[in-house]
Amino acid sequence: MDTFEQWLDTFWQIPARERKEYLAVKKAACICPECPSYNRCAGESKELAYCISGKSPLCISEDRGCTCRRCPVTSSLNLTYHDFCFKGSEAVQRYEHEVH
Ligand code: SF4
Ligand code: SF4
Repeated sequence: MDTFEQWLDTFWQIPARERKEYLAVKKAACICPECPSYNRCAGESKELAYCISGKSPLCISEDRGCTCRRCPVTSSLNLTYHDFCFKGSEAVQRYEHEVH
């Protein structure tokens, strides 16, 4: 298991309240608001940490670049992918690349 898999394993084993706190820490570190793809709709909906929570449900569909690679969450969780707001979470993209 790599860093992300270990983190995900722990994330799903802890109580829901703690999970929310874990997510809040990652959201606080998220630099999506600095990204050209991040738009007003996403900001108003307080969307963050797509790498964990998955695609932007309604706001982001256009690729204008991605700043995930210089985000501290990428290094701390050893994320492999990016463009999470329109391609899906790290877990989803890993799964998709495994099965295709
Ligand atoms: S890796 Fe990308 S989506 Fe995840 S917290 Fe950082 S900027 Fe946000
Ligand atoms: S996931 Fe990547 S492309 Fe999407 S808003 Fe965050 S930094 Fe930008």
